[in-house]
Amino acid sequence: MKKAHNCKLLAKREIAHGIFDFTVEAPEIAAAAQCGQFLHIECGGDVFLRRPISICDTDDNTVRFIFEIKGHGTELLAEKEPGDMINIMGPLGHGFELKPEYKKAIIIGGGIGVFPLYKLAKNIEADVFLGFRSKDRVVMEDEFSAAARSVTVGTDDGSYGYAGYIAGAAEEFIDNNGADIIFACGPLPMLKAVKNIAEARGIPCQISMEQRMGCGIGACLVCTCETGKEGMDGQVRVCKDGPVFYSTEVTLNG
Ligand SMILES: Cc1cc2nc3c(=O)[nH]c(=O)nc-3n(C[C@H](O)[C@H](O)[C@H](O)COP(=O)(O)OP(=O)(O)OC[C@H]3O[C@@H](n4cnc5c(N)ncnc54)[C@H](O)[C@@H]3O)c2cc1C
Repeated sequence: MKKAHNCKLLAKREIAHGIFDFTVEAPEIAAAAQCGQFLHIECGGDVFLRRPISICDTDDNTVRFIFEIKGHGTELLAEKEPGDMINIMGPLGHGFELKPEYKKAIIIGGGIGVFPLYKLAKNIEADVFLGFRSKDRVVMEDEFSAAARSVTVGTDDGSYGYAGYIAGAAEEFIDNNGADIIFACGPLPMLKAVKNIAEARGIPCQISMEQRMGCGIGACLVCTCETGKEGMDGQVRVCKDGPVFYSTEVTLNG
């Protein structure tokens, strides 16, 4: 069983309406964290189940995570103030697999799916594509720009940057420049598009799934999704076997 840690909230910032950037003191989690892993966080109050939130960044002593208010759990979490303690289990799950032969990496993130990709962008050389609904939802552009080889930002409604779904911008770039690995996290339609782009071109693709989950440690099976992989009884657990999978390992339903 993974240990839970009582972590002091050191910094809190609202980076867009309803999106909160938290930094907590968590040296043990920071020391063990790999790109793409997540935290399971007690939100407090009457919310019994922990909520999964990705690790956005770490340094020696701290862990940073960014979340959007979606329902009661994240609403309560957003009420925490610097100095408050937050009970956090982690790091959990399997993150992105990094291989030295990857020279032309592409990172594609959509909406809240950009957060788990930041630590990855800092750790590898990549061309990054970030998609948001509209200009007022664009976050972390400057930070990704400082970390990545190139950054293309797009909005679905065309109010900022590339106009349209960001997978389209990535597809054009890949066809002009090539790619030997794609990393992606975002809403299901985006992941489906990225899976198709990668598989049509024979490019390996690792996707991070943000499935609803219960226990976070593989016991309750709430977060299972279909897999074509042999020997797994047709199912994988996003929390324990993932959240990162090769696109060919999962069936993206829904
Ligand atoms: C591995 C993983 C990493 C995640 N990382 C982040 C992150 O870095 N930042 C972030 O903002 N969110 C992240 N999420 C999503 C986050 O966990 C949910 O938004 C949160 O649990 C909602 O809890 P709630 O109590 O506020 O809302 P609830 O009342 O539980 O749900 C409110 C609404 O959000 C929807 N919802 C709940 N959980 C999810 C989910 N997992 N995916 C999509 N929709 C959901 C529900 O269907 C409902 O419509 C991640 C999820 C997973 C599984």
